[in-house]
Amino acid sequence: MNINKAEFICSNTNWKKCPKANLPEYAFIGRSNVGKSSLINALCNVKKLAKTSSKPGKTQLINHFLINSDTYFADLPGYGYAKTSKKNRAEFQKFTLNYLINRINLITVFLLIDLRLKPQKIDLEFIEYCGTNQIPFVICFTKADKLKKIEIENNNKNYQEELLKGWETFPLCFTTSSVEKTGLKEIKLFIKENNSQFKI
Ligand code: GDP
Repeated sequence: MNINKAEFICSNTNWKKCPKANLPEYAFIGRSNVGKSSLINALCNVKKLAKTSSKPGKTQLINHFLINSDTYFADLPGYGYAKTSKKNRAEFQKFTLNYLINRINLITVFLLIDLRLKPQKIDLEFIEYCGTNQIPFVICFTKADKLKKIEIENNNKNYQEELLKGWETFPLCFTTSSVEKTGLKEIKLFIKENNSQFKI
């Protein structure tokens, strides 16, 4: 799919107040600073649709964007930022999880993972949560431009090994860089294919 138009629709903390669930929706989630805003902006080919910030933990709302008038992107709060108070963290985790479980038009969650890091407990827990609650997800490894090809391969393999300890199959993965614009075409193709099968 080509993205010709991307507009911000609304922000909230309650899945019941999200836009009418009549279009296919893709959610983006990951640890703070993983490159989520940058990836959304790169996919939409705009500079400031999702806020890119070097200060982690800023976006703590569910932000909806209408893409091409026929698709929603939901930018979910980043998780695992230590400086957010415990109460805040618990609250946004609760509303994010409620959204994930209840949003009937959600096609898949793009789980963003920084490929430079070893598998992180918080990401593995989120994967576990998706599995237990039958929430479909795919992995987007981010910031691939910061790694050499061999490092990308090795780190990818490490992740596979870690996940295959608990799962029979490895989820679909995209390796991306918002800086070099890699992996974007593949993600858009994935969205196009899934949109064509969308029924509500
Ligand atoms: P978010 O908190 O997950 O939304 O992360 P941001 O998109 O705000 O990015 C966090 C930091 O990582 C910023 O300084 C970005 O410029 C940087 N960043 C994001 N994506 C990439 C990427 O693909 N390559 C590189 N080298 N840096 C990136």
